[in-house]
Amino acid sequence: MAHNITTDTPHLRVHGVAGSAKAYEIRDFLSRSVVDYDWIELDDSSANTVPGVNTLSDPRLPACEFPDGSWLFSANLHDIADRLGWVSSPKLKEYDVSIYGAGPSGLSAAVYAASEGLKTVLIERHAVGGQAGSSSLIENYMGFPRGIGGRELAERARQQAVRFGAEILHLKEGVNANFVGDRIIVDLGDGGRITARSNICATGIEWRRLDVPDEDRFLGRGLFYGAGFSEAPMCTGERVFVIGGGNSAGQAAIHFAQYALEVIMLVRRGDLGEQLSDYLVRKIRAKHNVQVHTNSEVVTVEGGGQVESITVRNNLTAETRVFETHYVFACIGGQPNTNWASHTHILRDQRGYLVTGNDLLRDGKLPDTWSLSRLPFHLETSVPGSFAVGDVRHGSIKRVATAVGEGAMAVAFVHQHLAQT
Ligand SMILES: Cc1cc2nc3c(=O)[nH]c(=O)nc-3n(C[C@H](O)[C@H](O)[C@H](O)COP(=O)(O)OP(=O)(O)OC[C@H]3O[C@@H](n4cnc5c(N)ncnc54)[C@H](O)[C@@H]3O)c2cc1C
Repeated sequence: MAHNITTDTPHLRVHGVAGSAKAYEIRDFLSRSVVDYDWIELDDSSANTVPGVNTLSDPRLPACEFPDGSWLFSANLHDIADRLGWVSSPKLKEYDVSIYGAGPSGLSAAVYAASEGLKTVLIERHAVGGQAGSSSLIENYMGFPRGIGGRELAERARQQAVRFGAEILHLKEGVNANFVGDRIIVDLGDGGRITARSNICATGIEWRRLDVPDEDRFLGRGLFYGAGFSEAPMCTGERVFVIGGGNSAGQAAIHFAQYALEVIMLVRRGDLGEQLSDYLVRKIRAKHNVQVHTNSEVVTVEGGGQVESITVRNNLTAETRVFETHYVFACIGGQPNTNWASHTHILRDQRGYLVTGNDLLRDGKLPDTWSLSRLPFHLETSVPGSFAVGDVRHGSIKRVATAVGEGAMAVAFVHQHLAQT
């Protein structure tokens, strides 16, 4: 079932060179942000179709062409977002609630907070949708019996939040939090600052790295973190590797199988079903062009300017084997985005997840830094009025539905907190 949504963004043309990491970043961002675009891959004979460009190494590439005929050269995400009218500064001096992260949990919090009359600002450092924005088809979210694309779900929520009056600040990152009296002041990476009476941290998780030699050199040049939605059509006729055995890897393998000649899933564990939902295991087994290599992990990535091959070790036999490929997608789980909390009184667990509610109690006692006589609300961190929702929270379920539910629930606690301050 198609759930097409309409947006008022223009249709762009992105011109660049195959294997360009910058061009990949742009495609990924536009695709997640539900902006229609054509990718024009240049070669020696077509480089001069971009004004002022004669060679493929010209620094004016990648270039973006807008429907009005104007161009953006040496294009980057910030400049593109600016041209789309998405870059703005906070409109208010103070908000009732500031929400960090526009994945499912942050979007849900924004929809409920704004719809209930709270002055709401939502801050997103990259593309709206978070991890869900890279999901080709979410099949287990209630109400969509044939599934819904993660980008569509997120874009619908974004439109809904804006309609209710939430302000969204794109490509801005919360980097530092200060708790002054009953106000929360967050510094943004670009020098701005947001003051609010409460905040909701919905910053989710980011991909764990493979930790193989030279991996930075290949990032966006054949080695990708995440499900690589924007890259799938380019994998037509290719051999694609998907690393990981969880649901995100399983979904990616099924999606790439529509385009690639063959998809090989590399799974570290001995059985595909150990981490993967049953419905995905069945779908993968039914795909003639998906192979699963268990007990396997990548040990090196090789190539010149782009990935050309990988070496895979079988952990049972210790044998290694080299495979030629230009596309490797690593979906090997994540770690929480909570470095900003390290100098605050917000308690994190050993893996960096934010601890909330009853989990703050140790031998029946709250942390010394808890300043109120009442107990923390469920979803409230060790700092009153500061909440955590979704994947970033200690003990979270890592599902779209639970992230959405927590976002909505946190808003009810925000109301109670504000009524007491
Ligand atoms: C490929 C893939 C497929 C999936 N499929 C399913 C599925 O079918 N069903 C299902 O239930 N779940 C699925 N999941 C899991 C689900 O997407 C996550 O559980 C869900 O997205 C968590 O939502 P979240 O809002 O807590 O965090 P995230 O989605 O991780 O969003 C966090 C957001 O915060 C932003 N951010 C981080 N730090 C900052 C900062 N300092 N300032 C501002 N912004 C910041 C990030 O850029 C990101 O946009 C899938 C995940 C992936 C990766």
